[in-house]
Amino acid sequence: MTNTLKAGVMGDPIGHSLSPRLHRFWLKKHGIDGTYEPFHIKPEDLKEALKSLHKRNIKGVNLTIPHKEAAMGFLDEIDDKARKIGAVNTVIVKEDGRLLGTNTDGDGFYNHLKQSSTFKAEGRAAVVIGAGGAARAVLAALLSAGILKVTLVNRTKSRAENLQKILGDERIKIADWSDRASILKKCDLLVNATSLGMKGQPDLDLDLKFLPSTSIVYDIVYTPLQTKLLKEAKLKGCQTTDGLGMLLHQACGGFRAWFGGTPKVDEELREYMLKALEE
Ligand code: NAP
Repeated sequence: MTNTLKAGVMGDPIGHSLSPRLHRFWLKKHGIDGTYEPFHIKPEDLKEALKSLHKRNIKGVNLTIPHKEAAMGFLDEIDDKARKIGAVNTVIVKEDGRLLGTNTDGDGFYNHLKQSSTFKAEGRAAVVIGAGGAARAVLAALLSAGILKVTLVNRTKSRAENLQKILGDERIKIADWSDRASILKKCDLLVNATSLGMKGQPDLDLDLKFLPSTSIVYDIVYTPLQTKLLKEAKLKGCQTTDGLGMLLHQACGGFRAWFGGTPKVDEELREYMLKALEE
């Protein structure tokens, strides 16, 4: 039997995934005898594909659209992070073949925020725009980091209220979409967790006149890297953080679990991944 460590990513479609490029970069960098493959898995085949990982000697997989929620029904254990986020993006095959599901999106967001800015959660107030899967990961991370208050604002208010209910934390306050500019008055951290600003989507329509210049502005969109929101925030003198770092940091947990080593997110990796985004 070969000692090559094997992992991959399951999705449908899968051709767009940047994960193989990312993990192969780290494998080479660390001199690890390992492989990371894209697996095109249709929803009806997901259960079997996950169950077969152990006998195929695969250490684990990332999950992408449309498997992140569905997989929760096919795993043996789901950790607290995945439960809070309501989705699994990383599966680890244990020695005895049991499948553990976790979610590294919240850690990816928060670790990148810490690496790229002076943000400290304690005693601070954040505004999060959006109420989809990404917003849920951002909220879960901020709450577990000890944020004082998070104001959640979403075009469809009922989705924000639903998230508030699911997470059940009184530090989450809901604001009306029409008040999204005025709630920025007391905001230490502003996060765009919608798809607005992404290539092919309209820009986020947000007036920053009330935003203090001491605020940190984080856009989880990474195509383009410099969204209109980030450009305007920079002009105000705010620290800004783009979404590519979250994408790179969220991959660290899986890499450590499957291959060992200490993957780093640095300029060399960012440049290497940016080339793929530009292709
Ligand atoms: P999602 O579940 O589909 O949620 C989309 C969000 O965008 C909702 O809050 C939606 O509001 C809002 N939205 C969409 N169009 C809008 C419009 N015209 N006006 C106002 N609000 C609008 O998507 P998701 O999975 O949370 O992902 C959101 C974005 O995050 C995507 O661009 C994704 O690529 C990015 N993302 C980045 C990373 C990273 O690593 N950097 C990780 C995950 C996701 P409604 O509820 O009103 O529709």
